[in-house]
Amino acid sequence: MTTDNIEKQIKTGSLAGGKTYAFNEEHDQKTPAQMWFQNSVDGLTLFIVFYTQACRWSRCMGCNLPSKSSYHHVGYKDIIAQIDHVFSLPEVLTKRHVIRKLIISNNGSILDQDTFSSTALLYLMAKINLNFTNLDILTLETRPEFVEIEELEFLSRTLAEGDTPTLLELGIGFEAFDETIRNDTFNKGLTLETFERFIGQVSPFNCRVKCYFMQKPIPNFSDSDALADIIHAIDYLNDMSIRYNVRINMHLNPTYAAYGTPLEQSFYEGTFVPPKLVDVVQAVLYAEDSSLTLFVGLFDEGLAVEGGSFIREGDEHLIKALETFNRTQNFKQLQQAVSPRTFCSNTTG
Ligand code: SF4
Repeated sequence: MTTDNIEKQIKTGSLAGGKTYAFNEEHDQKTPAQMWFQNSVDGLTLFIVFYTQACRWSRCMGCNLPSKSSYHHVGYKDIIAQIDHVFSLPEVLTKRHVIRKLIISNNGSILDQDTFSSTALLYLMAKINLNFTNLDILTLETRPEFVEIEELEFLSRTLAEGDTPTLLELGIGFEAFDETIRNDTFNKGLTLETFERFIGQVSPFNCRVKCYFMQKPIPNFSDSDALADIIHAIDYLNDMSIRYNVRINMHLNPTYAAYGTPLEQSFYEGTFVPPKLVDVVQAVLYAEDSSLTLFVGLFDEGLAVEGGSFIREGDEHLIKALETFNRTQNFKQLQQAVSPRTFCSNTTG
């Protein structure tokens, strides 16, 4: 597809999604958009967001990730320069033998060859094998329609050549379980049929799947209905995990009011109030008897409007408990940490 056509798709998607943000054209094309370290049950994790042309879908209601991307095409030489930049950083080089998980994103789809070059992906795979000698998991974020069997075969073969066994994990956005909310209100453009075809595709490759969900992703959605939606999602993902023998991680993001999206306006009008963290904890606790692992996103990446975060004064003990849960998957400890007695004794000393 020509770069003009992709620009048209981005423009059409942004208009359809009611987006008002500008793209990030000022960014140095030779450095990634963002990167950070985090800790999860999988160990020390490096998260890299490459700076490329924006997500072609661009219309999901609460998403302003494309505002960190370019409207125009970013060529493979510049993406390779971004990769070289990452692998020249002292904080990466000193940790390269202890990084256990690498998450690769471009705020869109890494497997969309029109926005993330195949040459750059090949180069990245070589750099990963050469540098990350103890990597357990490589996660690539993508919309499922860009996943091709030939690519899965190639990526699996490449990872098998590394010094240590590395699993491939594909991270896809699901956002809401209710079909009407997901596709009619939120504009996700993801059917259960597409998701199940995707799970069937990845299953023979022993890939893991990470599904991004948002708790309370739309306006005029009560806290209890938002919690129920995540509970339905946990039941469904658990069934899929068992049926297709695929390990699934639910990445649960409490929704914030993202600037330049319809959620910003709803937030100012009072029809969107971010979820309470205590309800997010309840959602996580529901998954205790499931086959899933969970990770709760507690970082808004600077994408929320002022005051539009889900973190409120007095939430410190919940943040601490969820951060510990992300590292340990210890449900009992999470339950204890949020029980009124524990909270009371923690705060009264
Ligand atoms: S949520 Fe993902 S698919 Fe939807 S617009 Fe944002 S980056 Fe694109």
